Amino acid sequence: MIIKNFKKHFPLKRYGQNFLVNTKTIQKIINIINPNTKQTLVEIGPGLAALTKPICQLLEELIVIEIDPNLLFLLKKRSFYSKLTVFYQDALNFNYTDLFYKKNQLIRVFGNLPYNISTSLIISLFNHIKVIQDMNFMLQKEVAERLISIPGNKSYGRLSIISQYYCKIKILLNVVPEDFRPIPKVHSVFINLTPHTNSPYFVYDTNILSSITRNAFQNRRKILRHSLKNLFSEKELIQLEINPNLRAENISIFQYCQLADYLYKKLNNLVKIN
Ligand code: SAM
Repeated sequence: MIIKNFKKHFPLKRYGQNFLVNTKTIQKIINIINPNTKQTLVEIGPGLAALTKPICQLLEELIVIEIDPNLLFLLKKRSFYSKLTVFYQDALNFNYTDLFYKKNQLIRVFGNLPYNISTSLIISLFNHIKVIQDMNFMLQKEVAERLISIPGNKSYGRLSIISQYYCKIKILLNVVPEDFRPIPKVHSVFINLTPHTNSPYFVYDTNILSSITRNAFQNRRKILRHSLKNLFSEKELIQLEINPNLRAENISIFQYCQLADYLYKKLNNLVKIN
């Protein structure tokens, strides 16, 4: 069945407004999120409440963050509004850590994300990773593929490294463009990101990891000996058992972590440079 209330609002492209309208798909998403009344759930972009309504019926409180005042105006008129704690703001600047301290509980974040800012949103959420239980998001298929990509794949890059550094990621549902209004040009998927409990990766400083991957992937075609020449000598790469003639896309997350820790120690004079 197709929900029709999207007609009450003119969708704004700048806010990535493609509203979910297929009730079967919505139900599948609710089953994946599987909300529990004891949990703290935060929805990014409730929009016309396709997910908000069924989810808040399963909870005592649902926290929502919405940037469009017109949508909030429509939300106010709905019967379930009293269950919502509404933040009228940009989800990119929301302080999830403050919320954690207020609720004294890890946070579950979900949403059919505005595709124009979905990668920035996910990266900004990694700054709050310690207070997050899990994240369930609708994303553009191409972005999700970048998140889960492994070395050697065309879509493997900085986003894959940082995302898999922090989380275990699973694609759980394929969603066709016709399940949204307006109908987007791209296919979508619903995914789960769960922070590692026993992380396979560790670095002293994630900023260093980030600058190494920025340098390495700035020009994907360059070999590491060239792309990382400002950070590592060829000798250092060989010493770390990294072939300097490989390209950024051939290096595993574990190897990037090794590079980051070596550089950390070098910058802090903790290694002997020969
Ligand atoms: N959840 C609804 C659904 O599934 O039909 C709407 C999803 S729509 C793809 C994205 C929603 O995010 C819209 O309601 C939009 O106004 C909101 N949004 C866009 N940018 C935002 C931002 N920076 N912060 C918070 N909400 C935002």
